[in-house]
Amino acid sequence: MTVRIGVIGAGMIGQDHIRRLTQVVTGTRVTAVFDIDAARAEAAAAPVGARALRSGAEVIGSADVDAVVVTSWGPTHAEHVLAAVAAGKPVFCEKPLATTAADCLKIIEAETAHGSRLVQVGFMRRYDAGYREMKGVIASGAIGEPLIVHCAHRNPTAPASYTSAMAAQDTAVHEIDVLRWLLDDEIRSVQVLKPRRTRNRHEHLQDPQIMLFETAAGVRIDLEVFVNCRYGYDIQCETVGEEGLVRLPDPATVAVRGAGRNSTGVLQDWQGRFEGAFDTEFREWAASVATGTEPTGPSSWDGYAATVITDALVQALESGAVIRVEALEQRPAFYGGGAAATGPAAGAGH
Ligand code: NAP
Repeated sequence: MTVRIGVIGAGMIGQDHIRRLTQVVTGTRVTAVFDIDAARAEAAAAPVGARALRSGAEVIGSADVDAVVVTSWGPTHAEHVLAAVAAGKPVFCEKPLATTAADCLKIIEAETAHGSRLVQVGFMRRYDAGYREMKGVIASGAIGEPLIVHCAHRNPTAPASYTSAMAAQDTAVHEIDVLRWLLDDEIRSVQVLKPRRTRNRHEHLQDPQIMLFETAAGVRIDLEVFVNCRYGYDIQCETVGEEGLVRLPDPATVAVRGAGRNSTGVLQDWQGRFEGAFDTEFREWAASVATGTEPTGPSSWDGYAATVITDALVQALESGAVIRVEALEQRPAFYGGGAAATGPAAGAGH
């Protein structure tokens, strides 16, 4: 069966997902596209033989759309996801699920009323081979119980439009999701430390930031977010357990010997770092749609948790205080067991 997909939002990531669904994933075809910019929708739709439509509602309501991909501007996500759930169609929504916790809860309510999962949120790190292997090691007990996690999220530069709050909302949000999933544990409190600021930042920005988290089990996590590090795009994660530690591998690059040095390259952008993860994410999501089974990736609850925790981080940045995250204490049974019980199987997909 070919899964026919409608895409809402044909900007940078929307166009990349249209390419992926057309050229990389087998068994999927993009049949309809909407963007607030009609010319952009037409330019994205025509080369893949899709129709450019006049609204998100028209895409969702189309008879030749089996499932929906939402890649529009974040504040519009909730409206499109709610419409897809109302139509009973599976929907993949790029992060964030919604920009407010209240809107995430509306989606959870609508999905629960529908009676089965329809929504998957685009936290692609759960599909990265290194993170999956790390989850497998932790789940196997090989390093004992996890105690501490050290993380870094570094980008070479950030534009003037990037604000201090975006360090939580756009950057740390990926670590928040993947750490909940890796540890199968919930974040209970957050704090943000403000080190000396780099001279390579735009004046208004607090960069770097050190984010501290404590989980329900008492695991302590430190995350350095440094978006003007200059040297490259660099994602680090090391989990320290009672019996050993597990560290994310660096992306494979050749070693070059010359001019008296033995060196390896450092990636410069997130697209290269996570391309394989995006491909696996869409393959697995499309397979769930094709077989009519519930998606196994990040759920609406995970999208809600990410929004609640990023809101707490912004509050912590502004206040300097430790902020408790109480809203996540009652996970609905509909979303299963642990903190982030949904998600691909540990150790799979190598
Ligand atoms: P983008 O290039 O600005 O694309 C967003 C597109 O949506 C633009 O074409 C925009 O048009 C359009 N749009 C605005 N309002 C709309 C509406 N009401 N209905 C339909 N389309 C609308 O942004 P992007 O970088 O592709 O990001 C899109 C989403 O993906 C964001 O939520 C972002 O956080 C997420 N994302 C996730 C990852 C990841 O790592 N998983 C990476 C990148 C992006 P205008 O430009 O005319 O407003």
